Amino acid sequence: LGPARAAEIRSLIQDIPDYPHPPVVFRDIMPLLADGAALADVTDAFASLVEADGGVDVVAGMEARGFLLGAPLATRLGVGFVPLRKAGKLPPPVEREDYELEYGTASIELRRGTLQPGARVLVVDDVLATGGTAEAAARLVQRSGGTVVALAFLLELAALGGRARLGDHTVETLLRVG
Ligand code: AMP
Repeated sequence: LGPARAAEIRSLIQDIPDYPHPPVVFRDIMPLLADGAALADVTDAFASLVEADGGVDVVAGMEARGFLLGAPLATRLGVGFVPLRKAGKLPPPVEREDYELEYGTASIELRRGTLQPGARVLVVDDVLATGGTAEAAARLVQRSGGTVVALAFLLELAALGGRARLGDHTVETLLRVG
């Protein structure tokens, strides 16, 4: 994305103060998804980054907004899509990863046998905040036999330090806020 188009696309992400509770500023990507040209440009920009990273065999999307960005990207790349789901949604057998939230813990699951052994995987989500969710996603993919090529996000909340938490992984973000 060039700077002018990035600014236009950023303006389609709505900042909602104190949602779901203070002091969180919720970044709502739904207006962007509703804009066909913006969705196409975001998908193309992700695809260029992935191709520069050497390509992938499959896109793995985080429930739920990672599904909305990941599935069109998979189509654009000509590869399949696998969902990384919140706990309890997939029929057994599943692999599971637990991670810490601000209040309590959460889990994500991937159905056993979904990934081909050694598959090169791109993990996609809408927002990189503390990186806890993405860190768990990367562990889940690796434990399921995949190789994480990169983790890609539409928007990075840089002040929350998620990129550092993801350590040696390749982290791709289209837009950044402080
Ligand atoms: P984290 O694990 O802290 O990096 O949080 C990332 C996950 O929570 C992603 O699945 C995001 O969709 C969601 N998330 C965290 N913070 C926000 C925010 N300010 N606005 C929208 N989604 C967020």
